[in-house]
Amino acid sequence: MPHSPLDCLLLPEWLVPVEPAGVVLRNYAIGIRDDRIALIAPREQALKTPCADVRELPNTLLTPGLINAHGHAAMSLFRGLADDLPLQTWLNEHIWPAEAQCTELAIAEQLKNGVSCFSDMYFFPEIVCQQVHSSGIRAQITVPMLDFPVPGARNSAEALRQGLQLFDDFKQHPRLTIGFGPHAPYTVGDQGLDNIVMLAAQLDAPVQMHVHETAFEVQQSIEKYGERPLARLARLGLLGPRFQAVHMTQVNDDDIALLVQSNSSVIHCPESNLKLASGFCPVERLWSAGVNVAIGTDGAASNNNLDLLGETRTAALLAKAVAQSASALDAHRALRMATLNGARALGIDTQTGSLEVGKLADMTAFNFNDLSVQPVYDPVSQLIYAAARNCVEHVWVGGKQLLKDRQLVRMDEQKIIANSQQWARKISNKSNS
Ligand SMILES: [Zn+2]
Repeated sequence: MPHSPLDCLLLPEWLVPVEPAGVVLRNYAIGIRDDRIALIAPREQALKTPCADVRELPNTLLTPGLINAHGHAAMSLFRGLADDLPLQTWLNEHIWPAEAQCTELAIAEQLKNGVSCFSDMYFFPEIVCQQVHSSGIRAQITVPMLDFPVPGARNSAEALRQGLQLFDDFKQHPRLTIGFGPHAPYTVGDQGLDNIVMLAAQLDAPVQMHVHETAFEVQQSIEKYGERPLARLARLGLLGPRFQAVHMTQVNDDDIALLVQSNSSVIHCPESNLKLASGFCPVERLWSAGVNVAIGTDGAASNNNLDLLGETRTAALLAKAVAQSASALDAHRALRMATLNGARALGIDTQTGSLEVGKLADMTAFNFNDLSVQPVYDPVSQLIYAAARNCVEHVWVGGKQLLKDRQLVRMDEQKIIANSQQWARKISNKSNS
């Protein structure tokens, strides 16, 4: 139906679809119908399609929505908050509202930073799912697993039972993917991992895990198991196209071979690795070998912002230093890492991650009016090396606009700020008492 009406037709100055790679389209238009991209064509041709809502976006770069492939939205709220209370009181009156509030804050910050999709690993994933549902953002939520008691579950078996309920509750959700989040090779034993291998295969579910974050972790595994953590995970059957290895700062040739053979993804968190002095993920080496590398901000305790654009800039600069080559991780590949590679890691790359007809309309518009990004030769180069998150002007998720003229459409920013300040007072009173 080439001429059925569009819901919306956008006319950005530059359109960067990410796939095909390296392309910058000028004088093009992109049309949305329902939740999908229905048309990408030169303006004159596109304007022949009926549409009641045609929007000029001068000085604007339109890209796929950014994908933050690893984080912990509600981190750091629990410390000292509501100790010494009965479990149910603690959960109902303190932890759940605090987690909901913190997640709402993280989602609002990410939307304002151009993020259309994020992955989360933390306690109480059901609360995060509710916030994702009401906010309109897209997400992968992983069920956390550790071999010792965690808030909300006495052991890994109980956490797993609670997690399985989420697969039932959100199986059909258009914006949510539920996965497993075994914390790390040193916090989950073979039996727990065996369970995850079996369940992930049954449910065709993604698995995200911190792997090879530090040299100490690798050394400890060699002492305890006689093998590196990644080799142990491969032996247990955990690696595969749905496996997401977060960090990977310790990488040898055998590790790369395992990642390539299994088609697993790596999620690079450069600022967390820098802040904690964990080591350097060799992004260029992994990429050249054919490993899919995505990017994440990690949680608030190891990276004090959820600025994926800034994170991508750090990644592009760090990759050059680590590879000792100025051409390592160029701007276009850095943007791909923050979009399509993220989608591929999360197993949703047939649906999102690039601007292609038929894919979901998940898009971010960056305004280049600011003098800090003038003049523009290659808008992608400006985006990665010069622009800051305050250039983010609009965000759409599944064709719905969630950020418009830098304002949140569905969420009340002033209320979120006021609530956060109220919680901060509560937490600091508690920890000072
Ligand atoms: Zn993490």
